[in-house]
Amino acid sequence: MQTPAIEFCDLVIIGGGLTGLSLACWLADTARVTQQALPKVCVLEPRETYTNDRTWCFWDLEPHPFTEVIRHRWPRWQVGDDRQRVIQDGGDQHYAMLTAEDVYQKAQATIATNPQLNLFKATRVEQVSVETDRVLVDADRRQWQARAVIDTRPPESSAMREVSGLWQLFTGFEIDCSNHGYALDTVHLMDFQPATEAISFVYLLPLGPDRLLVEWTEFLPLRQKPDYEDKLNAWLRHNLKHPFRVVRREAGALPMMEIVNSSGAGRLVNAGIRGGWMRPSSGFHFAACQRGCKMLAAQILAAHRSGQWLLATPQTRHIGLRWMDRVFLKALRRQPHQAPAWFIALFAGTSAAQMCRFMNDQARLTDILAVIRALPPGPLIKAAILR
Ligand SMILES: Cc1cc2nc3c(=O)[nH]c(=O)nc-3n(C[C@H](O)[C@H](O)[C@H](O)COP(=O)(O)OP(=O)(O)OC[C@H]3O[C@@H](n4cnc5c(N)ncnc54)[C@H](O)[C@@H]3O)c2cc1C
Repeated sequence: MQTPAIEFCDLVIIGGGLTGLSLACWLADTARVTQQALPKVCVLEPRETYTNDRTWCFWDLEPHPFTEVIRHRWPRWQVGDDRQRVIQDGGDQHYAMLTAEDVYQKAQATIATNPQLNLFKATRVEQVSVETDRVLVDADRRQWQARAVIDTRPPESSAMREVSGLWQLFTGFEIDCSNHGYALDTVHLMDFQPATEAISFVYLLPLGPDRLLVEWTEFLPLRQKPDYEDKLNAWLRHNLKHPFRVVRREAGALPMMEIVNSSGAGRLVNAGIRGGWMRPSSGFHFAACQRGCKMLAAQILAAHRSGQWLLATPQTRHIGLRWMDRVFLKALRRQPHQAPAWFIALFAGTSAAQMCRFMNDQARLTDILAVIRALPPGPLIKAAILR
């Protein structure tokens, strides 16, 4: 048997997706600003090349390494159905969009200019073994020996609390279409569509006078292939005055459920969706991910300084918010037909500033009280009490 080639480093980051690359950028930025030494970091990613496979939207309330590459900002957002709509005006608090292309490019440039940071593409991790004083990571006949490992691979299905959650499935088209007529300063977070079983809505981002990103989204109790191209095409033909041309596609299946994080404090720490950072009730992840990476970067630099490599998964969400999400998802599973009314009431009963903080996991007590007041108490109390 061939002995594997061995690479020694301080930290291995498994997965060069949003969390792995964000963490590398946070490490570089924090080390530079605080004039601390960077540990030797290896990011291991199976992809050979990165493609423009998604967009990340979030309320841009805090600085992060990708601020300078934000492509679009909108001050207003709306939710509604065929009878009513609520528009919130965030003023200088914007809903913002990054393209994956820009994020991947910016992160790769940061890694390329820091000799301590290394990205290994075409590298699929097969095994991770934690020992007392090191972690061994095996991939493709190579082995990495590190003081600690951050694992950002997608969570195992055994870690997903599927019975108390939903799947968010979506298919999106970025389209060219002349004079679409949608206001350029307003995103449509949820335009609910008539549906019998699933919770269905259209998510629409005006990217320019002739450019839209439109997604057909459903919340379902069971995972399915997110293939809504026919529904999306039918909706576009019905709602646009002019013909359109698809220039990019994206699709996803996001677990809106609790993710059990099996890693405690130690040399192996889960992060990203695997670490439970994505918001179960919405599928929003970007803002919490940046907060988590910032906290992890501080821990890693301190560990490098002290030589004590015991890390802990940062808690990016208050325990009260986690409980609220669980109850809300349980209520939605029981009464999916109420989703339009509940979401519209939620936006109608809160201010734009409260909503951005709530969505970004930064809610204050007054924001939480406003959310509780906005929602109908009966179904939520039932969901909280019943198993
Ligand atoms: C199409 C799409 C659009 C989205 N839009 C938004 C949005 O607008 N706003 C928002 O907040 N969230 C959004 N999300 C949700 C979430 O932000 C993303 O899924 C995000 O990429 C999750 O980050 P992550 O680092 O946890 O996982 P990923 O970015 O998926 O990274 C995991 C990485 O692990 C790698 N990997 C897998 N197996 C192995 C292995 N064996 N060895 C090594 N590496 C491995 C993968 O290749 C991948 O690079 C979207 C998701 C999708 C799919």
